[in-house]
Amino acid sequence: MGGDGLDERVFATVENVIDHGGDIWWLHLSRCRACGQHWMIAQEERIFDEHFLRRLTVDEATRISINAEWPIEFLSYERVLKTGHALRIRPCIFLEQLPASLVWTAQDLRRERPDISVEEIALMLGVPEAQAKRILASGSSGQGSWWQRMRHGLGL
Ligand SMILES: [Zn+2]
Repeated sequence: MGGDGLDERVFATVENVIDHGGDIWWLHLSRCRACGQHWMIAQEERIFDEHFLRRLTVDEATRISINAEWPIEFLSYERVLKTGHALRIRPCIFLEQLPASLVWTAQDLRRERPDISVEEIALMLGVPEAQAKRILASGSSGQGSWWQRMRHGLGL
């Protein structure tokens, strides 16, 4: 969604029903108060700063509410980012070399899929490979544990 107030118009009637929670902090089940339509929403706020919405059938929404069974599209951060890239959304440009958003995202991508390559991480973050290497290195040094403490402190 763009910066033309569309977010506000959509979210005027779409309300959060269930958060996935845990490590998957970005994923929500929502429902439109006006028409009853359920949506699965990935709240991507690190790379694209966008909400991704997928329309759900009544069955899918019920499986989420009753069995905590979520459709797979947004279940990993890599899948969410791949969605953004597939839609050709431009990644945010950061002025710093090692922004926390990118450090955390690189760590999450590695945690989700330990054999992910630096090249793939660079592609997902929208940065050159050399910068992705520095981001990964900073995440595994003492600075990384500082970020993790920060992140923990923020409840993320
Ligand atoms: Zn509606």
